[in-house]
Amino acid sequence: MRPLREHRAAAFVGCWLQTMAHIHTHHGQAIPHFDQGWHGAPVHAFHRDFQDANDELDRYLGERGAVASMLQVSVADALSRERPKLQKELSRAVAAKKHTEWLDRLDPKCRAAGILAAASAEGRRPLASEWLVSVPCTQTQQIPDNNYRVLIKVRLGIPITLDGEKCRVQMTHGQCRRQLAEHADHAFACAKAARQSTHDGAADLSAAFHREAGHRAWREASVPEARSRIKNKPIRADVLTRRGPTDPAECTEVKIRHAWTSKGDLQITRADQWDNYIAAEEDSVKLKYDPVRVRPWVFSTLGRPGEQFCSDIRRLVRERLDKSDARRAVSRDSLRQLLLRRWRAQLSCTLAIGVSNTLLDALQGTAACGDLVAPRPTQLYDLQSHRFTGY
Ligand SMILES: [Zn+2]
Repeated sequence: MRPLREHRAAAFVGCWLQTMAHIHTHHGQAIPHFDQGWHGAPVHAFHRDFQDANDELDRYLGERGAVASMLQVSVADALSRERPKLQKELSRAVAAKKHTEWLDRLDPKCRAAGILAAASAEGRRPLASEWLVSVPCTQTQQIPDNNYRVLIKVRLGIPITLDGEKCRVQMTHGQCRRQLAEHADHAFACAKAARQSTHDGAADLSAAFHREAGHRAWREASVPEARSRIKNKPIRADVLTRRGPTDPAECTEVKIRHAWTSKGDLQITRADQWDNYIAAEEDSVKLKYDPVRVRPWVFSTLGRPGEQFCSDIRRLVRERLDKSDARRAVSRDSLRQLLLRRWRAQLSCTLAIGVSNTLLDALQGTAACGDLVAPRPTQLYDLQSHRFTGY
């Protein structure tokens, strides 16, 4: 119970502040001096318990009177009428403080810090967690059991290999056989076919979203207006789009970056520099396509998107809403939310399946080229012992 101590105090104080008025009105006659004793000398044991819990919370939140000034509700207020939801407010303040304390203590190079940065939705960049809450209503959104289990382990930082496991990615002359570290990060350098199919899945969706928004879109098309500086040949874009036949080319380039090296070390100096790393990737894509307009879709393997992707998907939704059928919608705002949710869920699941296939390819050597492991009707989810029973 120790880690929950302050939450217990928050629950106790919040609960009393909510129910005080009711007890005062209906049972106050039977409890002498019920209204006194909440401050100063306590009359009953519950007065003392309330004061103790309140003091404990004040101490935890850092100053005397912190609870009262945060809630803006005095005992006199609470005695006059029911004050709901204060328990939630106090618990959230405690949780926020615990979170900050944990973050402050975290080594900026440790796995947890890397996961937090590479799976974060901060700064209006939702995507990384969509697969966790997406309803599996389309083929794209169905994540097979084995993949799901790998993904949960990756997300929680639980090792996914057993001691001594070797990489089973199929190379030209047999399996790779290199030793895998506990998080199998080597897979992202080795399982090229699975990695390519993750990339292609995201690019296919980009082309599909563009078509849905009314553009003409092609995959893997050469862009005559942009020439490679090294080979002096037209660049091949992941997605090439043109609004009308004479409109200039616009491109999308997909990049998926893993935060750790093959040995499992964070590949940037500090985890909180991850967004800068993604921004630098976006800049290099723009430089490559110059003078053609390109929209870089850069993601971490844990799903955090770059800023350019976030603004691009909002642009595509706006353009989709400009089509005549959408203009007739009763609520354009609901339609906008619906589209954003669907596109993000499809993309997030595609990335999640691709990333877990990459890892499964190294672990079991069968998931290459987008071949999904068949879902099983019943599975035991054993996240504690690190045992893989599924394959
Ligand atoms: Zn390998």
